[in-house]
Amino acid sequence: MIENVLVLNANFEPINVCNIRRALGLMMMDKASLVLNGRGEIHTINNVYPIPSVIRLQMMVRRPRPRVRLTRREVFRRDNFTCQYCGKRTMDLTIDHVLPRHLGGTHSWNNVVAACSSCNHRKGGRSLAESGMALHHRPVFPPASAIYIFGRHLHENAEWEPFLKGW
Ligand SMILES: [Zn+2]
Repeated sequence: MIENVLVLNANFEPINVCNIRRALGLMMMDKASLVLNGRGEIHTINNVYPIPSVIRLQMMVRRPRPRVRLTRREVFRRDNFTCQYCGKRTMDLTIDHVLPRHLGGTHSWNNVVAACSSCNHRKGGRSLAESGMALHHRPVFPPASAIYIFGRHLHENAEWEPFLKGW
């Protein structure tokens, strides 16, 4: 069973992803309403509930736009699963700090890139200039759009796309 439920704010802005148990809890407490189901039903002793795919909060909550967390998987996704040095698209990726940490490089979106293991090995602990290697793209903060932020869920939840577009 697909576990993720997209949570929309009262104004339909996508703000979160939660699991089905949490979504059903919000619905039973009248804190959220069902927007989209199509995943079948859950039967309890007394009731039958549609399994939600998208819910909407009844009350507007104020919260900052979620940001893409700096994780290996998110760096690879930003870099399109492509080594930023040789351009090879591969699953054999590592995280490279463009300016190595022992030279003062930070663990930040502007200083991490996806690198295949052979390029990472070739670059070693050197700076870009020392290594004589070049980047295909300068690393930047990932886009803040909802379609990007929640995009990693789309292959399992294609029906969310209309709710993500435009935010
Ligand atoms: Zn490479």
